[in-house]
Amino acid sequence: MQLVRSISEYRRIRAAWSGSEKVGFVPTMGALHEGHASLVRRSHSENEHTVVSIFVNPTQFGPNEDFDKYPRTLEADLALLEKAGASLVFAPEREEVYPKAPAQISFSILDLDKKLDGASRPGHMNGVLQVVSILFNIIQPQRAYFGLKDYQQCLLIRQMVRELHFPLEVVPCAIVREADGLAMSSRNRYLNAEERQQARFLSMILGQIRDKYPHYPSVAELKQLVSLAKEDWPLVQLDYIEVLNGNTLENVQHLSPEQHPVAFIAAWLGSTRLIDNMPLYPQPAE
Ligand code: AMP
Repeated sequence: MQLVRSISEYRRIRAAWSGSEKVGFVPTMGALHEGHASLVRRSHSENEHTVVSIFVNPTQFGPNEDFDKYPRTLEADLALLEKAGASLVFAPEREEVYPKAPAQISFSILDLDKKLDGASRPGHMNGVLQVVSILFNIIQPQRAYFGLKDYQQCLLIRQMVRELHFPLEVVPCAIVREADGLAMSSRNRYLNAEERQQARFLSMILGQIRDKYPHYPSVAELKQLVSLAKEDWPLVQLDYIEVLNGNTLENVQHLSPEQHPVAFIAAWLGSTRLIDNMPLYPQPAE
């Protein structure tokens, strides 16, 4: 496994790979865990080369967010990636990616970033699309792997790839969870013991919503279920709980499989913000 720091060095290596050798790409911000490893393993099983980027992208963090304290654990990351089958790790410095900070080009997104994290974190989705488009142009993969944990991000990237005709396929990958259901996240390591315990609320409530469906036919009733349940979880500060059409992120009033309802949650545990989501279809067996 090679560690590459510069675009020019990567381009030299990329040019030596033949056209028939497929390149799979997994963009990350490091502080890697099993969720990331699952994407790398999938890419490794489907492509001749698997390139993983490690770059904590400043443009997707808001001014009061955790850019400075975001965990940087390069050595452990490299060990995990080697084991998972990565062939090359691209870990550039900030100046390599954005030589003229701040970035001059931004994305204006019509619909898909008006809700969920797009609404709660202004500018975040623009930052994601900036860095992902830059990395696609550098890495030139045929396939790019994204976790459904960041569901809205995945939808936006798919839209960008379609609309801007990037010659690659976006491969969405299932959420990897801890044994108690908590979605794996680099930010989980910020949690203290009590917060970690109560972080179970996110996946627990999504599971309850899914299991009660279709007995709770309206979104309003589902939201009521959540606010009642929350009373027992004092450390959880809800940011949002939404049930939206999983293809369009439009509101759904009544749950039916044709609307592809997906439940989304974001919540604070102390100063740590966590997100999760769960499709409410296909209907569970009665
Ligand atoms: P990040 O390093 O947080 O930017 O994540 C890099 C990629 O890993 C993104 O496509 C994430 O959606 C994905 N990812 C993060 N956590 C998980 C998880 N628990 N399961 C599956 N994919 C994940």
